[in-house]
Amino acid sequence: KVIESLPSGLFTTDLQGNTVIFNRAAEKITGIRREDVMGQKIETALPFLIFPFKDGRHEEELYTAQGERKTIGITLSVLFDITGAKTGFIGTFQDLTELKKLEADMKQKEKWAAIGELSANIAHEIRNPLASLRGSIEMLREDKIPVKHRRTLMDIALQEMGRLNHTITDFLTYSNPKPLDKQTVDVHALLNETLELLKNSEQNNADITIEKNFSGSLILEVDPSKIRQVFWNLGINAVEAISNGGRLSVSSREDLTHARILFTDTGSGINAHDLDKIFYPFFTTKEHGTGLGLAIAYRIVEEHTGRLSARSTPGINTTFEIILPKHHEREQRENPHY
Ligand code: ADP
Ligand code: MG
Repeated sequence: KVIESLPSGLFTTDLQGNTVIFNRAAEKITGIRREDVMGQKIETALPFLIFPFKDGRHEEELYTAQGERKTIGITLSVLFDITGAKTGFIGTFQDLTELKKLEADMKQKEKWAAIGELSANIAHEIRNPLASLRGSIEMLREDKIPVKHRRTLMDIALQEMGRLNHTITDFLTYSNPKPLDKQTVDVHALLNETLELLKNSEQNNADITIEKNFSGSLILEVDPSKIRQVFWNLGINAVEAISNGGRLSVSSREDLTHARILFTDTGSGINAHDLDKIFYPFFTTKEHGTGLGLAIAYRIVEEHTGRLSARSTPGINTTFEIILPKHHEREQRENPHY
């Protein structure tokens, strides 16, 4: 009675795999009547089982006698009698079809929600500069505007168009990246170039110390222009976060398998609440930020099968860490002891 009332399919077989028990739920799930499987190989009802049966839990596809496709979760183990002797096999199984469908629906819904959020953010990023463009042009239409103001208004209009173009270019870099073009390069040389550019950048008008805590070379197989972009995006954020007298220090470490590059700054810091969101496209706390710098950096590091993470103690410092694998994946597979 207990076995018959179980909501799960249950069967047992002898040592040769011939069916001994096949409960009601098993009939219901497989669409096969007990009489047709008793004493027969259990594969008659569950064709995916291959004798000798594997222990443990797995998921399988099943076509029922009625031609319906089902996903089955099944757990198999060896059956012992009271003396401890092996007498056969026992399996329990469930119909996971509905569950799988729900799971797929959920995934689809999440995907649409993410796309919706992204679209709303893009629209917002486009509407802001459009509004100032419109304002400038409406004012320009009026004849009474003095020549000096006309220039300013036109400058604003041009600047906003530039901003729009910039947002869209960045967004395309994020959403439709070029394929990786890996080369063997000295990553320290790339870092040096970026830090030089940062020192001379217009964002760096404050009194900022840029410290290099690396020496020698760090040879990796990466796409140099993409990795340069990562360094630049992290560097510019640090510079933007630092007010007068702050410090950005860049260091690197390597072990047998990975290289780590750290950007640490003594700027404004990131509170714990924002830390979860900084890698999302369009997340920004800056008035003229696009919120794409870190999203792009994250994506590039991921393309290199590396990892990008951030930690911050506001008031003390903020660190972005890039981890890059040192050997080509293929090479790693060929030389697993690396
Ligand atoms: P943007 O720079 O356009 O705002 P990013 O994707 O580069 O976009 O950065 C997203 C947000 O992450 C920034 O607006 C800022 O709030 C935060 N952030 C990134 N880097 C730092 C940093 N080094 N210090 C403090 N906050 C940072
Ligand atoms: Mg940025």
